[in-house]
Amino acid sequence: MTKMLNEKMYALGSKRSIIREIFEYCKTRASEIGADKVFDFSIGNPSVEPPREIEEAIVRLVTEGNATALHGYTSAQGDLGCRTAIAETVNARFGAGVSADSIYMTCGAAASLTITLRALLNEGDECIVFAPFFTEYRVFIENAGGRVVVSKPEPSTFQIDLADLEGRINGNTKALIVNSPNNPSGVVYTREKLTELSDLLRRKEAEYGHPIYLIADEPYRELVFDGIEVPYLMNLYDDTVVCYSYSKALSLPGERIGYIAVCPRMAEERKVYLAVCGAGRSLGYVCAPSLFQAVIRQTQGATVDVGIYKENRDILYSALTEYGYECVKPDGAFYLFVKALEPDAYKFFERAKAKEILVVPCDDFGTPGYVRIAYCVDKSRIVNALPAFRALAEEYGKK
Ligand code: PLP
Repeated sequence: MTKMLNEKMYALGSKRSIIREIFEYCKTRASEIGADKVFDFSIGNPSVEPPREIEEAIVRLVTEGNATALHGYTSAQGDLGCRTAIAETVNARFGAGVSADSIYMTCGAAASLTITLRALLNEGDECIVFAPFFTEYRVFIENAGGRVVVSKPEPSTFQIDLADLEGRINGNTKALIVNSPNNPSGVVYTREKLTELSDLLRRKEAEYGHPIYLIADEPYRELVFDGIEVPYLMNLYDDTVVCYSYSKALSLPGERIGYIAVCPRMAEERKVYLAVCGAGRSLGYVCAPSLFQAVIRQTQGATVDVGIYKENRDILYSALTEYGYECVKPDGAFYLFVKALEPDAYKFFERAKAKEILVVPCDDFGTPGYVRIAYCVDKSRIVNALPAFRALAEEYGKK
């Protein structure tokens, strides 16, 4: 008998991601006891306003523009003017040498990743991710026919552990996903580490005789503190595909806009770019939202106020370490990665929940025993939650 539907998709749809599960709980709980009494730190929804230029561009475009063109289809890979503007920005910032023909406009990083993985992987190919990693990588890689291989981080710094990585690369390794600044650790990988990574990959490419692609997942590139550098991977390693998104960079996650940039120095650059176009086509990801392509074209260089996230980080990090929590000091993104106060992060999560603190256990991120606190919230929520964090630490016998 033929199956009625795709059971794998049914399984994915019927079980939400842990983050979404907790986020939904928070909404229900807020309706019961009041939003100000629920300390929801579950989801990475930016709390900082989008730049003024964005709203001004929207208003200008919808009032002065040609509505039919504005809301019409663009080229499948995106409007040429938008791709040209992005290429110019990328070249001015990083000297990357990309052109409009290296860029494919997408509906955010999720689409950038699913398209790129579909373009690069064949059935059974392995894709390495670095723990802790964004949980959806597993879904995206497996949907592209790939196998997830997890590389463990260096203990305490949560930087890439090159010795661990080397042991996991083999003839089936096709790609790696690097996410820096990292969700959920907030760690930014150092130039030194990424240079060593590039050297290792070049050696392994030569050893196995085929490309090993580096996928740079960069939704948090712009969210860094204290002037810390986020090296542009394409400049270190030619077989790089950048998956960029404006979701966090410009606080526009609901607008679904981002892009893929294929390194122009890659040996099979045209083939890879065309495979990206083909994957976009096969997945139905053609013509990213036209209005937002036009907005992005007109607002290159716009930024959000990262100082607001930094202030949140500073308050939370200094208070929690003072209460006895072990935290990784984040240099970017808007997450604090905290060691649970007992080995089982789910049990710790339940005890935090009893105090109306909602954090995310990180087992699904490849790091059992840790939780993630998304501090992209109003400062008042952090300040109001501190007594509950302190009481929780005291319950565990912390000072
Ligand atoms: N990659 C990482 C590491 C993320 O944290 C997220 C979203 O939180 C995404 C990709 C997906 O981003 P987007 O909303 O642009 O699809």
